[in-house]
Amino acid sequence: MTEKFAPPPIPREIKKLDAEHLKIIWHDGHESVYPHRLLRRECPCASCCEERAKATKQSSPLLRVVTRSAPQQYVPTNIKLVGRYAVNIEWNDQHTSGIYSFKLLRKLCPCGVCRPEGSAAPPHNEFGQVPEE
Ligand SMILES: [Zn+2]
Ligand SMILES: [Zn+2]
Repeated sequence: MTEKFAPPPIPREIKKLDAEHLKIIWHDGHESVYPHRLLRRECPCASCCEERAKATKQSSPLLRVVTRSAPQQYVPTNIKLVGRYAVNIEWNDQHTSGIYSFKLLRKLCPCGVCRPEGSAAPPHNEFGQVPEE
């Protein structure tokens, strides 16, 4: 019962918020709303990690890009608990191997509290221009 040791984040509730968002209510009352594409992009499985690593290292045109069969919109088709520490999210592009640990999900929370401006979160291009320094 030491207070120094922060318990791992535990979701109290995971639900589809709408066609494009997943919502997690955490045990501590924090609420996270994730755009599906964010979760899909951050898929922690081995093959996605590999793809991302390759993509950042070199943008080779030979890269076997997943987008060939990628749907316009990513939608989780199934979400199930994996033990007491993670969820497995199956996507509508047939990708089913993503095991998202609660820790990772909490880290990915895009809200203003978890991502105060100017913090580590790298800006992405999708929603507009990223100012270059
Ligand atoms: Zn993956
Ligand atoms: Zn948050």
